[in-house]
Amino acid sequence: MDNIFDVKGRVIVITGAGGVLCGEMARALAKAGAKVAVLDLDERAAGKVAGQIGGAGGAAVAVRCDVLDKGSLKAARDRVVSEFGRIDALINGAGGNKKEATTSPEMSFFDLPPEAVRFVFDLNFLGTLLPSQVFGKVMAESGSGVILNVSSMNAFRPLTKIAAYSAAKAAVSNFTQWLAVHVCRNCSAEIRVNAIAPGFFLTEQNRFLLTDEETGELTARGKTIIEHTPAGRFGEPGDLVGTVIWLLSDAAKFVTGVVVPVDGGFSAFSGV
Ligand code: NAD
Repeated sequence: MDNIFDVKGRVIVITGAGGVLCGEMARALAKAGAKVAVLDLDERAAGKVAGQIGGAGGAAVAVRCDVLDKGSLKAARDRVVSEFGRIDALINGAGGNKKEATTSPEMSFFDLPPEAVRFVFDLNFLGTLLPSQVFGKVMAESGSGVILNVSSMNAFRPLTKIAAYSAAKAAVSNFTQWLAVHVCRNCSAEIRVNAIAPGFFLTEQNRFLLTDEETGELTARGKTIIEHTPAGRFGEPGDLVGTVIWLLSDAAKFVTGVVVPVDGGFSAFSGV
C-alpha cells in the first residue's frame, strides 16, 4: 500500500521555524524527506535549524523573513522558489504573546497599552493572513497546496490574563475556516487550509507565565494547567509532529477548515 502520509520531496515553508515548536516541525518534516524553508525574523535562529537539518542529511534553506512585511514575504517566496522550484505547503507558525499585553498585579486590564495589544494581535493574526496571501497565491497558480495555521487552546475559550493573545488566536481559527472555504470556491478544491491548536508547551513566549523566573518552579497558573490536562503534563514539541504530517499529507486530502486540538485532553476536560 502507498504511504498516504508521505511528504517526501514536498517543499514546505514554515514561518517562525527558528522557534521551539516550529523548529521541531521543520526537523521532523525534513527527516520525513520534505524540503523545508526555515523562515524567521531571527536570522541566526533560522540558520541554526537549517544547519541542524543539513547536518542530518536533510534539505533546508534558512531565510530571514518578517511575517508582517509583505515585501519581506515576497522576497522569501522568490528565494524558496529559486532554491526548490515550487511551494507545496505553508505552516504559519510565527506568533506568540508578550508580557506587556498580559494582565498581572502590576498591569491592570484598564491600563493595557494599546500598542502591546496591537503587537500581539498583528503578530498572530496579520502574521498568518499576510503569508497566506503571498504563498497562497503560488498555490492558487499551481492549483494545489496546503496551509496549516497554528491556533491555540485560548481560541476555544479565552484564558485569563491574555486578552489580546486569546482574541488573536480566535481570529486565526475563524480565518482558517474562512480561507478554507474561499480557496476551494475561488481557486482550487486541491488547496486545503487547516489549523492545529496546541495545548500547553513550555517555550520562551510563555515561560514567564508558567514558571517562576528565579526558582524555575511552576507558578500557580502552571500547576492549574497540569491539573486540567488529563495527560498530566505539558506537551513536548515532538507531540505535534504526527498531526502536522497527517494534515500536510494526502492522508488528510478531504480535510479542510478544521482546527485540531493537540492538547493532552485539556479542551475536553471540564475540570470536574
Ligand atoms: P517561539 O517563541 O519559540 O517561536 C516563535 C518564533 O517566531 C520565534 O523564532 C520568533 O523569532 C519568530 N517570530 C516572531 N516574530 C516574527 C515575525 N514578525 N516574523 C517572522 N518570525 C517571527 O514560540 P513557540 O511556543 O514555538 O510558538 C510557535 C507557535 O505556536 C506560535 O504561533 C504560538 O502562538 C503557538 N502556540 C504555542 C503554544 C505553547 O504552549 N508554546 C501553545 C499554543 C500555540
